[in-house]
Amino acid sequence: MQKSSLIIGNWKMQMTFSACASFFTEFCQEISKNYNDNSEILICPSFIHIYYALECLRKYKLEHKIFVGAQDCFYYSFGTFTGQVSPSSLSEMGCKYVIIGHAECRALYKDDGFINQRIVSALNSDLLPILCIGELDKEKQYKTLKEQLHYHKEFIVKSKKIIIAYEPIWAIGGDALPDETHIRKAADIITETLPDAKVVYGGSVNELNAKSILNIENISGLLVGSASLSAKGFLKICRA
Ligand code: 13P
Repeated sequence: MQKSSLIIGNWKMQMTFSACASFFTEFCQEISKNYNDNSEILICPSFIHIYYALECLRKYKLEHKIFVGAQDCFYYSFGTFTGQVSPSSLSEMGCKYVIIGHAECRALYKDDGFINQRIVSALNSDLLPILCIGELDKEKQYKTLKEQLHYHKEFIVKSKKIIIAYEPIWAIGGDALPDETHIRKAADIITETLPDAKVVYGGSVNELNAKSILNIENISGLLVGSASLSAKGFLKICRA
């Protein structure tokens, strides 16, 4: 039996409002013709496009089939925090997932400690966290992963449904896909530590390599950056 996979599009800050509108119109029209429920599809636009994305899915009656998530959230749900986005507001609006600890966010926070609070805060708001981990240095893969898992584990085990995105930083945003052995080993380390976690892979995923990555044991999905910006291209990945 084909395994069910979670395909996530992380748009980062790469879509204008009009590009987001065109994407959703094209994507919803195409997917309505032929929906493959073997994969769960999640799109994470910028905060300011989330409400529009949800409305578009409702218009096409796809809101129970395709999900919208956020690229981050704050570690409190309410208060005097200028410019921050509350996990409970995201949940109230209709988001199901939130990406936490993406390498690009970690680089901006300059303080890893708050990622654990973000996990707790997301869970308390009924959002499913997608925790990103991965090494900066190719040679330190296993050491870094084990350290990161150890650091987050106490907070992650609060949820049986956590998703771990293995995203080696050196593979993000380019054409530097690790070989299958590398990805398999990382997935094994994660599942040995967290047997209930769903592991997705991210970094240089495209429509040509998606299927072979999904075939790797213990990999249950993909976290896709640039290749998720085109409706046609992302559909091919979703149907890989
Ligand atoms: P790319 O797919 O563009 O390499 O980005 C990966 C990523 O950072 C997804 O979160």
